[in-house]
Amino acid sequence: MEKIEIIQGDITRLDVDAIVNAANKTLLGGGGVDGAIHRAAGPELVEECSTLMGCETGDAKITKGYKLPAKHVIHTVGPVWHGGDKGEPDLLRSCYRRSFQVAHESGVKSIAFPAISCGVYGYPMKQACGIAMEEAKAALGKYPELDRVIFVPFSEPAAEVYRETFRRVFLDK
Ligand code: ADP
Repeated sequence: MEKIEIIQGDITRLDVDAIVNAANKTLLGGGGVDGAIHRAAGPELVEECSTLMGCETGDAKITKGYKLPAKHVIHTVGPVWHGGDKGEPDLLRSCYRRSFQVAHESGVKSIAFPAISCGVYGYPMKQACGIAMEEAKAALGKYPELDRVIFVPFSEPAAEVYRETFRRVFLDK
């Protein structure tokens, strides 16, 4: 529980082993947090991404971080929200699970997540946040080397949702 942090702001500024990117299936860059990560990392990131042959929804792939303070970027593709009965919760859960797994395989000890799918892809923040925290709890149980899991809400209202969800999932309140 003490390994979880909520830091509101720009994920590209964080000096951690890996930041997670809410990418699209092409992995060739886009808007939102994806655009910000590619701009901050520089053109070498898209070069490496172009060798990966894209990524399925719910899967994750790792690259170097290039000009970012973060050593690695884990690119995951969240589901587009279509009302919630098209498998969105399982796919979002899979994004977090696969990101933690890929992080573990690369020896990552500190990892930061944006609110995957909660921007252009339209996933309701509260529901997404519950899944994020539950999977962080599971990963901390599974991967003892994991030291810091940082959630990075971009706005103050989003940060409040993260704080509430943290209390619900970790403190049972
Ligand atoms: P998706 O397509 O998966 O919905 P978006 O990038 O549109 O991804 O949005 C995901 C979340 O990332 C949104 O809540 C958005 O406010 C947030 N976001 C945008 N830029 C940044 C940033 N630089 N750092 C952290 N979060 C960001």
